Amino acid sequence: MSRSIKQTECLIIGTGIAGATSALVAAKEGINVTLITKRSHPTITNTNLAQGGIVYKGESDSPQLLKKDIIRAGRGINSIEAVEFLSEKGPQIVKELLIDELHVNFTHIRGSEDEALDLTREGAHSINRILYSADHTGKDIESALIAALQRQDNVEVITGATAVDIITLQHHSKNIQSRYVLGDRCLGAYVFMHEEKEVAAILAQYTVIATGGLGDIYIHSTSEKGIVGDGIVMAKRAGARVINMEFIQFHPTTFYVPGKRRFLISEAVRGEGARLKNLRGEYFMERYNPQLKDLAPRDEVTAAIWMEMIKNKQEYVLLDVANHVHGNIEERFPTICRTCKDAGIDITNEPVPVVPAAHYLCGGIHVNTQGRTTLNGLYAVGEVSCTGLHGANRLASTSLLEGLTWGYFAAKDMAWRIHTKEIVEQKTMNTVREWIPTRKVEKEDPALIAQDWMMIKNTMWNYVGIVRSRSRLKRALEDLRHMYLRIEDFYKETPISKDIISLFHGTQSAIMVTVAASRNNKSIGCHMISPPAEKS
Ligand SMILES: Cc1cc2nc3c(=O)[nH]c(=O)nc-3n(C[C@H](O)[C@H](O)[C@H](O)COP(=O)(O)OP(=O)(O)OC[C@H]3O[C@@H](n4cnc5c(N)ncnc54)[C@H](O)[C@@H]3O)c2cc1C
Repeated sequence: MSRSIKQTECLIIGTGIAGATSALVAAKEGINVTLITKRSHPTITNTNLAQGGIVYKGESDSPQLLKKDIIRAGRGINSIEAVEFLSEKGPQIVKELLIDELHVNFTHIRGSEDEALDLTREGAHSINRILYSADHTGKDIESALIAALQRQDNVEVITGATAVDIITLQHHSKNIQSRYVLGDRCLGAYVFMHEEKEVAAILAQYTVIATGGLGDIYIHSTSEKGIVGDGIVMAKRAGARVINMEFIQFHPTTFYVPGKRRFLISEAVRGEGARLKNLRGEYFMERYNPQLKDLAPRDEVTAAIWMEMIKNKQEYVLLDVANHVHGNIEERFPTICRTCKDAGIDITNEPVPVVPAAHYLCGGIHVNTQGRTTLNGLYAVGEVSCTGLHGANRLASTSLLEGLTWGYFAAKDMAWRIHTKEIVEQKTMNTVREWIPTRKVEKEDPALIAQDWMMIKNTMWNYVGIVRSRSRLKRALEDLRHMYLRIEDFYKETPISKDIISLFHGTQSAIMVTVAASRNNKSIGCHMISPPAEKS
């Protein structure tokens, strides 16, 4: 086998909660796993940034109650099957994997008889059911998962490796006859190895895309850098079905410091009592949702903030923590307190300026409850996938649970298929061709890449942002398509690099969101195509 072709049983692209869970569960089933990330360390993920928590089960909770809350937040266009699956199975996996096996450091009720786990609440949940670890829940889960993976002999973790393309029989076999076979089969992925500066073909019986969402295609986002929808674009090119791409959730409250990257102020802060007010000091949420007020679903709170900012010509609104959150704020929200303090705001004493920012993709690669996509041999788990769980708007703290649950069941499904010999023959694997390098006409120009990114991110924020209109979407699509033609040429004529792959994929995912938004005339959930109204 050539140096640029490797082989494994299961290739997993992405090391967040979804990819890492899949890797761990598959490895424990005896499967050989190759887990890759484009970053320099496996814990650099959006999972690591999650603050608020993960849905578990509250006192007097039930799968039916959780189902009701998820569907209410999702505006009823959720997949009932996915909602029931998560509500039934999700909390059990939290107990089995995170609590009993990995001993994640979740916060306990201090002084309670049996040191019971504490549960908090976030927007649109009817009871307290969210397990948390101060305000660094994601970090604690992620590091426990990666540490467990490092103890597995049958898992190879490769950092500095960017997936470029999904390998399929019809597209990449040297055997001409493969092109005529009905029904394609995924056989792995082409991966750009940063250090070697070359693309390797990693062949696999089963491939899992776990590349997260696409927050970084927006100028204002809560996301890690470089999360631009690679997996969705690659899956689409390979022939898998992608759905619900217009549903981008904008988080209502990120710390506003002009010119600085947005930092999330978790919804758990409102869960503990914090309230939003405008610069005139009015607690405005009671005008938009008199019942749930500051704990209304995210899409409603974001829309209300947006309305207040426009109406009052203000660049931000205020989150009043000091007057409404009881107990030790610094102990409960250490990361948030520290970050705000570093920027000159003491949240225990003064209100925090906040604005909405792009946060979560509710759509993605269409999968069933086992994480199978419409392309045989290809799975998708976590934020990159669309299980249908979130419908038009995600309920807070369900995404970590979705990544965990689908990561777990996708791994079980793959292991079962491998154990029952539902595998591709070696002679078929041997037909896969090596990556064909670009013609290397132009040298990479960082100025061009930076300028293209600025245009994409601004277009997405201004025209395909919180509130959309027909004319803005039309303009966005024209601009993005024009840009894509140029970027495609650039991609074909420049030696491959991680920055060029990211730009190439980012443009395509921006187009996918804009096309989906243009096709959906109905304002629903986080797809808003006209200004929202106040309730009288
Ligand atoms: C600031 C913040 C706070 C949040 N808080 C919460 C919360 O409290 N509760 C909750 O439920 N959800 C929360 N979320 C959402 C949740 O964290 C994410 O939806 C979830 O962690 C996504 O996990 P994932 O495994 O799908 O992907 P990620 O954790 O995003 O990981 C993606 C992985 O894919 C890799 N990757 C991407 N492209 C490529 C490529 N081409 N080649 C190789 N590797 C690639 C990345 O390097 C990374 O390893 C929050 C999100 C953010 C941004």
